[in-house]
Amino acid sequence: MNRFSYHRATEAADAVRMGSEPETRFLAGGTNLIDLMKANVERPTQLVDISRLPFNQIEELSDGGLRLGALVSNAETAYDSRVAERFPLLASAILAGASPQLRNAATNGGNLNQRTRCYYFYDGATPCNKREPGSGCSAIGGVTRIHAILGASSACIATHPSDMCVALAALEAKVRVEGPNGEREIDFADYHRLPGDEPWKDNTLAQGEMVTAIDLPANDFTTNYTYLKLRDRLSYAFALVSVAVGLTMDGDRVSKARIALGGVAHKPWRVPSAEALLEGQTPSPQLFARVADALLDGAVGQGVNDFKIELARRAIRRALRQASSGTPQSQIDKQVA
Ligand SMILES: Cc1cc2nc3c(=O)[nH]c(=O)nc-3n(C[C@H](O)[C@H](O)[C@H](O)COP(=O)(O)OP(=O)(O)OC[C@H]3O[C@@H](n4cnc5c(N)ncnc54)[C@H](O)[C@@H]3O)c2cc1C
Ligand code: SF4
Repeated sequence: MNRFSYHRATEAADAVRMGSEPETRFLAGGTNLIDLMKANVERPTQLVDISRLPFNQIEELSDGGLRLGALVSNAETAYDSRVAERFPLLASAILAGASPQLRNAATNGGNLNQRTRCYYFYDGATPCNKREPGSGCSAIGGVTRIHAILGASSACIATHPSDMCVALAALEAKVRVEGPNGEREIDFADYHRLPGDEPWKDNTLAQGEMVTAIDLPANDFTTNYTYLKLRDRLSYAFALVSVAVGLTMDGDRVSKARIALGGVAHKPWRVPSAEALLEGQTPSPQLFARVADALLDGAVGQGVNDFKIELARRAIRRALRQASSGTPQSQIDKQVA
């Protein structure tokens, strides 16, 4: 048992002040942090419980978008009628994750900041640069079924486990944070980071910075969208590969395309030049294959996970087919079956 102090913040400024102290963690739903503390992976000396702060609303934005409070649960977000109708890609991605009980407790801010599911990160008996900087990476040369094929480094090949974040990347959300230096907004593409030489840093937050909300800009990905998640079990499992696609169609042509991949890198993976290949074009299997190749340019397996490159290629093509035909996944599944 590691000793730690517990404080329940009643105001954001208090949370930021206490959160700025070293070895302090914010506690939201606790579904990831408490597990990591029990496993002795996270050893904070201070917990700041932010769950009673007033970031628990979903609000309208003037451009027709929505502001999701950081403390709204994943379930409340997915089932909010405005999210379900205007951002069904996000609702599908959230509902593809975890279990109903977990989604009730898990918060939007916590989902962004959940940590990798790399087996070795959880195993205190093995070296891991993310857990113990400088100790080495046990995954390289080890069991890598769930590990990265894109953007990895010689220090870490972990993936980001979130489903919600893959949709947020495709939706080009903005993360609102409050910290010791005030408030700022971070483009979703810049929120999570690649491992590089500092794999212990999952994202670009400074110590003490707290996510207060996630802004969803208005879009019209309400008909031509798909969140396709491929995993070892049909539910209650993290993605081996996932694909979030949002398309705007102008007649039979694509006028705008946004695509993000999950399960393949340390952050949701986007390649704007691959999205541009679709724009102005009529969907076709040949075009989808080119887009998949562009998204996976530079993909490298670790041996055990080499299969993920072909899995991702097929998943991208299937997700684009589903999105462009405006076909919900269940109907496509029936057609394929
Ligand atoms: C068995 C199991 C299966 C799961 N399956 C999936 C899955 O398939 N897909 C998926 O996407 N997720 C899955 N999850 C992960 C789950 O979605 C996350 O645990 C959850 O979203 C974390 O939210 P939380 O509020 O409980 O965060 P907490 O556990 O409270 O916190 C997690 C981290 O975020 C930090 N944090 C929390 N809130 C903030 C904030 N506002 N600002 C800054 N930092 C903050 C904390 O300090 C901590 O480091 C699964 C989890 C479990 C236990
Ligand atoms: S892949 Fe990253 S998280 Fe996993 S053992 Fe290596 S350094 Fe640790």
